[in-house]
Amino acid sequence: MHEWALAEAVISTVEKNTGSTDLSMLQEVTVLLGELQNIDIEAFSKGLEMMTKGKGADLELFQLEIEKAVFRCNYCGMEWSLDDYPGVGEDEREAIHFLPESAHAYMKCPGCGSSDFVIKSGRGVTIKSIIVKDREGRG
Ligand SMILES: [Zn+2]
Repeated sequence: MHEWALAEAVISTVEKNTGSTDLSMLQEVTVLLGELQNIDIEAFSKGLEMMTKGKGADLELFQLEIEKAVFRCNYCGMEWSLDDYPGVGEDEREAIHFLPESAHAYMKCPGCGSSDFVIKSGRGVTIKSIIVKDREGRG
């Protein structure tokens, strides 16, 4: 399952970063989920929950944020999101979510009309921050 593999990758990255498999020392982990990644948040959360069990943490530890898709024109440098772009309906959005490369079939740079643009963000899964509990303080 895709979401479980992602959850596993998140946990192992966190463990590598902190140098410990004891997650009880952590206060908050913020994970950015790309808008174009098409993640089943429920399955992903379930995966995180299962994998943090027995490691001193639970699902509360994780803040899941959606990272908006941003497109950037190679020609004029303009950046835009799916929401900014007029005339992209539900069907097109769905197609772009399913296959981000298909964005080129539905969009042109709103600034200069070039179809030479890249997907700057909104793909993949990123760990935005890992906050360790204050040793002096609570917890
Ligand atoms: Zn442009």
